[in-house]
Amino acid sequence: MNLSGKVALVTGSTSGIGLGIAQALAGAGADVILNGFGDASAALADVSRHGTRVGHHPADLGSVEQLEALFAYAEGEFGGVDILVNNAGIQHVAPVEAFPVERWDAIIALNLSAVFHCTRLALPGMRQRSWGRIVNIASVHGQVGSVGKAAYVAAKHGVVGLTKVVGLETATSNITCNAVCPGWVLTPLVQKQIDDRAANGIEPEQAQHALLAEKQPSLAFVTPQHLGELVLFLCSEAGSQVRGAAWNIDGGWLAQ
Ligand code: NAD
Repeated sequence: MNLSGKVALVTGSTSGIGLGIAQALAGAGADVILNGFGDASAALADVSRHGTRVGHHPADLGSVEQLEALFAYAEGEFGGVDILVNNAGIQHVAPVEAFPVERWDAIIALNLSAVFHCTRLALPGMRQRSWGRIVNIASVHGQVGSVGKAAYVAAKHGVVGLTKVVGLETATSNITCNAVCPGWVLTPLVQKQIDDRAANGIEPEQAQHALLAEKQPSLAFVTPQHLGELVLFLCSEAGSQVRGAAWNIDGGWLAQ
């Protein structure tokens, strides 16, 4: 796998899954643009050790203006985006009738609308260079529901639908668009859900086991490294006829 000469933008890559994917892409030789909140210095150091060029832009992707600034940075500093990994995402758990409207809007803006905006901004350059890969980190929740996750499930189903349309609109080109649907991955986003369970008086290990046992038959977490390797496959020549797919990587969650 040799991605040297390619530029990858991984949204939400200062932690968790995005960081794992950024590392895999840099390991395969791609220059990488990181994005996400918080102190990016550790992520920058981590990804830079592969020797490719690495930058960070702190755009809040809930804002179309900031998102456009991110793409202006990618164009100006890196010459455009060849590999777009739409990964940034947030979660909020509450029943529909108590779901805070502001949380609904924020989740739809980041988990769904930002995927549309990044895609529309990346595609012209990909078409010009006659090559591109778009990988949308959706979720098992792009295919099934879970109680309390109305906004997240709606957004992720939307991402799977958008992926199909972009897969079709690029079908005769060297650009592919696919979604990846992970089950539980132990990242800050999921740790918070484990901590919420543990706050009800359960031991943390028990809370973790209960979370897995409810949905994920393998009783093991998917890792950011697994996801990085899957993204590399989708970027490879062997992956070039995978188009508009929603690829499960979920310890058996969706086989039930
Ligand atoms: P995480 O909380 O570890 O990381 C989220 C990243 O997004 C961070 O870098 C954060 O700074 C960034 N971010 C948050 N809000 C942002 C905003 N407004 N603009 C730009 N960046 C922002 O989460 P994660 O678990 O690594 O999740 C990454 C993706 O994977 C999400 O789309 C999530 O829905 C999806 N996913 C996660 C799991 C899981 O079990 N962890 C399972 C399936 C899908």
